[in-house]
Amino acid sequence: MATAFPPRSRGGALRRLVDGFDRFRDQHFEHDHELYDTLLDGQRPEVMVIACSDSRTDPAIICGAEPGELFVVRNVAALVPTYEPDHRPRGTSAAIEFGVVALGVRHVIVLGHSFCAGVRCLLEHDHGGRRFDFVSDWVGIASEVRDEMDGLVTEAERPVIARRAEQAAVLASLRHLHTYPFVAERVADGRLSLHGWYFHFGWGLLQAAEGPDGPFRQVDRGMPPAPAMGRAVAEPPA
Ligand SMILES: [Zn+2]
Repeated sequence: MATAFPPRSRGGALRRLVDGFDRFRDQHFEHDHELYDTLLDGQRPEVMVIACSDSRTDPAIICGAEPGELFVVRNVAALVPTYEPDHRPRGTSAAIEFGVVALGVRHVIVLGHSFCAGVRCLLEHDHGGRRFDFVSDWVGIASEVRDEMDGLVTEAERPVIARRAEQAAVLASLRHLHTYPFVAERVADGRLSLHGWYFHFGWGLLQAAEGPDGPFRQVDRGMPPAPAMGRAVAEPPA
């Protein structure tokens, strides 16, 4: 049977990436001069995505984005910390500030996903018995999700609770995002809208939160979902 990927061998993974870059250069960079000439002047993405570092949920791949279209920050479990300007280095907060204030994105999407190991760590305090130096503290920024699920988790309910917790983590991140004054100000005056999306890759579905408390509904083909917070901005015709 043919396999999608060549057998793993020493150096094979990196060779695939270099081959992939060659294809990118040949198929895109060498042919779309107008796009790349425009991008030389700088980036003007309308959309920022906060996604999980999970290798299965690359937002540019699953949404078919072009170079220059998405400003992306990825971290374990796609979490947003609350606004804490304490002069410590905070990567996700810095990316949010840069995307919203410097680039002026019109939409921020928090993109959660199914079977998220980061959310599992949040629920179970570890990962299959493994303790981490950094992961536990990081996912703890969404401890309200754990509190929300506590008492609900039985062995039989575990798969359902995990999916519910993954969506609750998206909603928690939206609430945290709204604690940034420059975000809340732009949401209030209509310059920015916040979206909670959930990619269920077991089912091949994209869902969106209908409001700050959910629920999540499947995104209809060709119909952009309303934001969870902020105004729906009319999309220009395709
Ligand atoms: Zn994840």
